[in-house]
Amino acid sequence: MASTEALTSRKPILRVAVPSPLRQLFDYLAPDGAEPAPSPGCRVLVPFGRRQLVAIVVEVSDRSDLDSSRLRAIRRILDQTPLFPPALFKTLCWAADYYQHPIGEVFAAALPAQLRQADRNQPSVWALSDSGSQSEELLRRAPRQRALYELIRSRGSLEAEAIRAAGYDSAILRQLHAKGLIVRQALTRDGTPFGGGNMLRQNAPRLNEEQQAAVDAFGAAGLGYNSFLIDGVTGSGKTEVYMRAMNERLRQGLQCLLLVPEIGLTPQTVDRFQQRFHCPTVVLHSGLAEGERSKAWKSARDGSAGIVIGTRSAVFTPLHRPGMIVVDEEHDASFKQQEGFRYSARDLAIVRAREEGIPIILGSATPSLESLHNAASGKSQLLRLTRRATGANLASMEIVDVANLALETGLSETLLYRIGLHLGQGNQVLVFLNRRGFAPQVSCQDCGWVAECKDCVANLTLHSKPPALRCHHCGAVHGVPAACAACQSRRLHSKGVGTQQLERFLRSRFEPMPVLRIDRDSMRSRKRMGDLLQQIGRGDPCILLGTQLLAKGHHFPHITLVAIVEADAGLFSPDFRGQEQMVQTILQVAGRAGRAQRAGQVLVQSRHAAHPLLQQLKHGSYDEIAQVLMQERSQADMPPYSHLALIRANAKSPAPALEFLQGLAAEARRHSGRLGIPVDCLGPIPAPMEKRAGRFRIQLLLRSQSRSELHGLLRILCGGADKMRLPADLRWNLDVDPVEFV
Ligand code: ADP
Ligand code: ZN
Ligand code: ZN
Repeated sequence: MASTEALTSRKPILRVAVPSPLRQLFDYLAPDGAEPAPSPGCRVLVPFGRRQLVAIVVEVSDRSDLDSSRLRAIRRILDQTPLFPPALFKTLCWAADYYQHPIGEVFAAALPAQLRQADRNQPSVWALSDSGSQSEELLRRAPRQRALYELIRSRGSLEAEAIRAAGYDSAILRQLHAKGLIVRQALTRDGTPFGGGNMLRQNAPRLNEEQQAAVDAFGAAGLGYNSFLIDGVTGSGKTEVYMRAMNERLRQGLQCLLLVPEIGLTPQTVDRFQQRFHCPTVVLHSGLAEGERSKAWKSARDGSAGIVIGTRSAVFTPLHRPGMIVVDEEHDASFKQQEGFRYSARDLAIVRAREEGIPIILGSATPSLESLHNAASGKSQLLRLTRRATGANLASMEIVDVANLALETGLSETLLYRIGLHLGQGNQVLVFLNRRGFAPQVSCQDCGWVAECKDCVANLTLHSKPPALRCHHCGAVHGVPAACAACQSRRLHSKGVGTQQLERFLRSRFEPMPVLRIDRDSMRSRKRMGDLLQQIGRGDPCILLGTQLLAKGHHFPHITLVAIVEADAGLFSPDFRGQEQMVQTILQVAGRAGRAQRAGQVLVQSRHAAHPLLQQLKHGSYDEIAQVLMQERSQADMPPYSHLALIRANAKSPAPALEFLQGLAAEARRHSGRLGIPVDCLGPIPAPMEKRAGRFRIQLLLRSQSRSELHGLLRILCGGADKMRLPADLRWNLDVDPVEFV
């Protein structure tokens, strides 16, 4: 360790976050020169080892624990004003601590790639300084400098890139700068403001009573932090409520951030906002080219974008004049980042709204138990929409008992008959099967051998287009074998049904009816999804066949029948959230039916038709089911009645991962004994998928009634683990509030 003797220096010490897996800040000296030290939230270029990295200033201090001789100076200040406004900056610091994730990686996750590099796209512009009166004098014998000076004057300000593009090299720029005639300005001048009037176009429907009550409650709560949960059945007009609430903010010139699960799949949502509002709307999602992303990001930051719609990581978008945040489909698991910096965008949206001092609305037809719990305990205000806004009834649900039936490609006669009936009446039908590929298993009829992935504890899935055996966990692809690998028998057969097989069957059965398959294999391109949605929108009868991708937020007015091929996997899931997720999926898919005038029907096939959960689904509302699930959680002492953290470790053999976690578990138990509120230490045990991509996976679950005790312990464990010498092969990570246990 370095000397702990504190050093007082005339130069300020900058404590910066460097994009590295180290859970600490690094100290640097401010650069020479008259420039004031950059403030927290600004980017700086620092020497790090033998590289130069873009880092974020987190603190400015006058002392360092390191000896001055060991401190290096930063190379360059990249921003004159903080890239992250204070509330967002605080949210990010909070997140690094809460998720115990290296702070440099947290900031990196929040920045568009272009701004993570020093050289491309400087986010600053050049403008004239106040010393213009001396320009005649200073530029007398420098025509190129004068020309550039005039160019900048004529434009007000110019980005470095535009200056280069205009044919001026950086030497000329430097000379002008050295003469004090131009200054670097922050990226944000204020963008063109919007607002100052009704932002809604005229075609908005009249709100019904429940919607109006929700909008009124929102309005009454005022401008500061307030949290709302809109629990509204599918098609109840939640989006309409968001729009009215947003309108109030937009007309005050404030910006609105809307987080949605997956934009590429729901272009309809974006269209709706663009059609409804006059103000500029930008979209942020992973499918954007870097240039587009930076542009959208900048217009959010400079305040020219009124509405910012984005997926998970858009929660980190800076806003110049934030007005409110909406998280639509807040129950959706895609708001949780599952690797690297494992954050929940929904939870961070709440933290951010509090830091910004602005209201937040979470909305869903099937709210997470966490959010319902927050509403019950008064942390947020519950607003209910119980009826469909169009006046349509919610689809009626029937459970089709297939326990002792022979099925044809997974479908019962009842289902096939009804599908035919609805198509015959000129309607559209949605068939939901959450399993892509042709068949989930290939085996030998003679010896029972099953085709398995050699790197994962998992069967290979048979795909027909193109023919292959694929592992859905590590991505491995093999040819389809002609013979059994164990006994060479050629009598191989497939078991179970995936969407590709169902597609083929439905085509032949309902010829010439179009069958449109929507799953991750068929939807490689955004454009294809758009084309399909258009075709569906025209309303001609067809069968839509798809996985989870279909469940999200789509509006299909012509669908009258939703057939759910299999409901059973979730009933007996080992995951404590399995049942909640199953119910949410079924209700979300069911919600696609009968959204227009014609009544909708939902059929759910199950081998366990009498299961209480399915019976409740048929007779009750989501809220009643949620109450039952909530009681179970309470009895089992699971979230939202406790807090969880999962430490995962993996290695090429089980031993190093197991030993590492055993060490942590022992440490945890030692500390836990001294805590006021205990932290349970469950494990270590093998992960449900014990081996994946050739690595053995072990996990340790920590649980406590007290978040602060749990976090205190996590800090100790992470701190300890960071200091250990670990086998080179071992990898580990921490997942706070985990949602997936695979
Ligand atoms: P949700 O977001 O709850 O699924 P939407 O806001 O998408 O619901 O509304 C569902 C449908 O009902 C949309 O076609 C919408 O235009 C329509 N709608 C919403 N509110 C009203 C209303 N007050 N009167 C008539 N139609 C409405
Ligand atoms: Zn065999
Ligand atoms: Zn695999």
